[in-house]
Amino acid sequence: MAKKIYDVIVIGTGAGGGMAIKTLCEAGLKVCALNAGRRLDPEKDFRYHRMPWDMKFRGLDDPKRRGESFGYMDNEYTKAAWDHEIPFTVAPGTKWMWPRCNAVGGKTNFWGRSSARFGDIDLRAASLDGYDVDWPLSYDEIDPFYTRVEKMIGVASTVQNRPSNPDGSYLPPFKFRCLDFILQAGCNKVGVPYLPDRCAQLTQPHEGHPACHFCGECTTGCDIGAFFSTPYFLLPKAEATKNLELRTNALAKNVLVDENGQASGVAYIDRQTKQEVEVYGRAVVVAASCIESARVMLNSKSRQWPHGIANSSGQLGRNLCDHLYGESARGYLPQLLGQPSFPDHVGDSTIAWMPRWQNLKAPHEEKFIRGYSVYPDGGCEEFPGFATDMDGFGSSLKREIKRRYPSPVSFGIQAPSLRSETNYMDLDPEVKDPYGIPVARMHFEWDENVLKMWEHSKQVCAEVLRAAGGELEGSGEAPEIPGWSLHETGTCRMGNDPKKFVTNRFGQTHDVPNLYVCDASVFLNCTDKTTTISILAFSLRTSERLIENFRQGEHRAA
Ligand SMILES: Cc1cc2nc3c(=O)[nH]c(=O)nc-3n(C[C@H](O)[C@H](O)[C@H](O)COP(=O)(O)OP(=O)(O)OC[C@H]3O[C@@H](n4cnc5c(N)ncnc54)[C@H](O)[C@@H]3O)c2cc1C
Ligand code: SF4
Repeated sequence: MAKKIYDVIVIGTGAGGGMAIKTLCEAGLKVCALNAGRRLDPEKDFRYHRMPWDMKFRGLDDPKRRGESFGYMDNEYTKAAWDHEIPFTVAPGTKWMWPRCNAVGGKTNFWGRSSARFGDIDLRAASLDGYDVDWPLSYDEIDPFYTRVEKMIGVASTVQNRPSNPDGSYLPPFKFRCLDFILQAGCNKVGVPYLPDRCAQLTQPHEGHPACHFCGECTTGCDIGAFFSTPYFLLPKAEATKNLELRTNALAKNVLVDENGQASGVAYIDRQTKQEVEVYGRAVVVAASCIESARVMLNSKSRQWPHGIANSSGQLGRNLCDHLYGESARGYLPQLLGQPSFPDHVGDSTIAWMPRWQNLKAPHEEKFIRGYSVYPDGGCEEFPGFATDMDGFGSSLKREIKRRYPSPVSFGIQAPSLRSETNYMDLDPEVKDPYGIPVARMHFEWDENVLKMWEHSKQVCAEVLRAAGGELEGSGEAPEIPGWSLHETGTCRMGNDPKKFVTNRFGQTHDVPNLYVCDASVFLNCTDKTTTISILAFSLRTSERLIENFRQGEHRAA
């Protein structure tokens, strides 16, 4: 029997894969999408307004597996969406956390929705401060793709005219809470910005999706689809074309090649039958998220590609960057003590942010280069974390917790690490996953520059809190461990020189023209902004390039 050949095989259905799948299917290409895990059913798998006391383990999950949990996002509500089966290792001296959501839609099912564009200040950072290299495209080239993505997914914000943050096309912003007005006044005194964040959460109905009702349960999945996720916003459009075949529980192992070393398909493990299966295509898109994409490609060894597919530069897996996260300051606002709780716990959303204000006039104004942003947070959260630090017991303790309930605030830094030779991932030569695939081995340490940002943020955020009339209680003792931000970039960087970069400026690998990469692995570095809206914009651009290459006859049947 003749083997079936799809036009394109897409590995991964998260932000990058989802956008590629939708764009390719709508262009009439036959797509087979592989996803490592199952498809979630919002009715059964999402929180559906169940309160902690309705849950067997009070929402925290089985005590037997709490030690393995990836933290606040991986709990009784989101059971089985996070991958605990595929291990990874760390090189001596490295600490790394790697939460992976293997469900269809990947991490977009539960993400935080903060969605600022990168600007020229980010793409041309090297020209400004002399460190590393510029991105191989200007902001003007990616600007229209951001606009199209914002219209597609709906982003709530305001036009802010800030030099580090290009404005886009926005839905009305979230309303500020009391604490936002108080902190904003503190920021004004100190001279730092405090503005509505760019948040991909619908403050009004948009493109057939309902408006958010502010239940505050986004991190356990939105059962009405009022924030952007691939399963709600992209896959239904792809499925409507009838050009998509989605294979779930399909863990991609390696990209297959023909006699010329060009991509001819993908070998994957069916996690239910444990069998290896091959699927064939005229082109392959890798979008399994930064580290996993590099793992699959490094594991794609052949006569033509002995060090991994499309790795003649030796740069596959290298140049790993991440956001340093940490609590720069925490305290409370005495002005709000004893006030009625506000019934929103919208603290789950990034309502406000303090966009980068450092090194804007000149690239070396501060003791560090580039810049960071800060997410202020606080108010009535579902679980009042501050209560664990309070003394006392019984009804007087409960009364005091209630009095404090609307008043806590905190500031979380988002600071980009710099590219370095020593931060990378490779395949562990000793350790394999349960399916016999070598696991990712992480090599990573925070650089001096990003640690200077961390110290700087602690001082500024304490100043803001005091200027707002707040009481400072402290800060995180140390930053969160690398990997925690979930914004890793850079293992397949894009650039014009095939000797130094894995893909060209369109995300098409230099060595293997019918192999494309559609996630943050193509990014040159982290910036002070989150990555997902940029993954969507770059994936849209790459997918349209791929479609054009099909039209031009560049990709033919194997
Ligand atoms: C709690 C939380 C808060 C976040 N907050 C923000 C935020 O505010 N702003 C922001 O921009 N980003 C945020 N993020 C990060 C954001 O979710 C990611 O940037 C984005 O989802 C990455 O898209 P991706 O397509 O690269 O990867 P993913 O969304 O992780 O998708 C990868 C897909 O590939 C599949 N896959 C992996 N390996 C294989 C394999 N071997 N074979 C087949 N399939 C495979 C997975 O199953 C998954 O479906 C947050 C994430 C979380 C979890
Ligand atoms: S707060 Fe809004 S977006 Fe979040 S889960 Fe509730 S309805 Fe959905």
